[in-house]
Amino acid sequence: MKKLPQPIKDTIKWVHERNHGEPIFIQAVDEVLYSLAPALDAYPQIIETNLLQRLCEPERQLMFRVVWQDDNGKVHVNRGFRVRFSSALGPYKGGLRFHPTVNLGVIKFLGFEQIFKNSLTGLSIGGGKGGSDFDPKGRSESEVMRFCQSFMTELYRHIGPSEDVPAGDIGVGSREVGYLFGQYKRLTNRYDLGVITGKDTAWGGSLGRKEATGFGAVYFIDEMLKTKGESVEGKTAVVSGSGNVALYAIRKLMDMGATVVACSDSDGTVHQAGGLDWDQLREIKEIERGRLREYAERCPKAKFISRKSGKIWDIPCDLALPCATQNELDGEDALKLVNNGCIAVSEGANMPSTPEAMKVFLKRKILYGPGKAANAGGVAVSALEMQQNASLSSWTFSEVDGRLKETMASIHGSCVHYARKFSRPGHYVDGANIGGFLRVAQAMISHGV
Ligand code: GLU
Repeated sequence: MKKLPQPIKDTIKWVHERNHGEPIFIQAVDEVLYSLAPALDAYPQIIETNLLQRLCEPERQLMFRVVWQDDNGKVHVNRGFRVRFSSALGPYKGGLRFHPTVNLGVIKFLGFEQIFKNSLTGLSIGGGKGGSDFDPKGRSESEVMRFCQSFMTELYRHIGPSEDVPAGDIGVGSREVGYLFGQYKRLTNRYDLGVITGKDTAWGGSLGRKEATGFGAVYFIDEMLKTKGESVEGKTAVVSGSGNVALYAIRKLMDMGATVVACSDSDGTVHQAGGLDWDQLREIKEIERGRLREYAERCPKAKFISRKSGKIWDIPCDLALPCATQNELDGEDALKLVNNGCIAVSEGANMPSTPEAMKVFLKRKILYGPGKAANAGGVAVSALEMQQNASLSSWTFSEVDGRLKETMASIHGSCVHYARKFSRPGHYVDGANIGGFLRVAQAMISHGV
């Protein structure tokens, strides 16, 4: 273990004491604080103004009841959350997650990550996150609509284009964003397009937003590979998940000449050695909202591996893109990947690697792009959506995609720069954490205590 400066030790202790029921939030904070040790001297005010503790406590946390009726008339009660973590760099910005695993600790961890991720984009967006423990799986379209309307019936009071701008995340796509926006409009009598991002392109959404997180994670891995004189072309890849992020990471990997041999959902993994069939995959996951088991039934060359009998990380590959959820890849998985020849990992999900997995990647010195950097393309294009909404304009797909590519290259450049300056070359975790932190710290110092 590194020798830690006293202010970091004190902050870690303080955070642990006051958040002990929230291990996932503690995990996210610990990772960042360990990284920051060599950067504390960058500005004397970091210590003088107790900036570390200030950064680890959300500015405001909202928790509310969401009542909705299912198709049989039964009334359900869920919990809604919006954690406004940091407004140092701009209005709070971050998605909404609808998933049964959501609780305050999960939203705090995601909101905390968002501060640094958003900072790395170089854009004027603060960090926040929200969601609910509502499970959309198996729910009808009208149930999802009623839930979204009820959720917004409370949330509308707390959001606004220059206040707090939610978007999608797991369980929230453009369909849900539409229902949320509709209710906001009904309640406020305002057509505030910039109040939420991830909107449908028919009415204020940005071209390229749907693809942005997945494409961005691939642009990032390609940037990392370039530092070794390599590229995505000709590589074999596995991508966990099969939601929006995973799908568009797969699409971009294919476009750039990689063979994507596997993806997964909560039931298991599909493995197809010759490469997945994009049209089938998109049809089943995006259009039909179906399960991967069906993919294996329709594509005879694909094999379905149930969750009980194996993991996607058992499959040998050059590139691994965890694009499902937090802590989905543990130390054993990481060892297996590296021992099977994996040379680069780019995280499309938020904190998908456990601390043990991260240690393996760092120790074995493979190219490892942490989520804060690698999946920042989604929120970056959300900020571009806000820009288009504010100027009543809409840009072409190639303009947005070009800016996304530039942003990912610039984030990569920042990681490389800060890693070299404060840690060791190629340590993207320290590079991302320090680079993200220093920009937020400068803003907090300027704004006073
Ligand atoms: N949920 C995404 C993330 O984790 C996107 C947030 C946004 O677009 O505001 O960054």
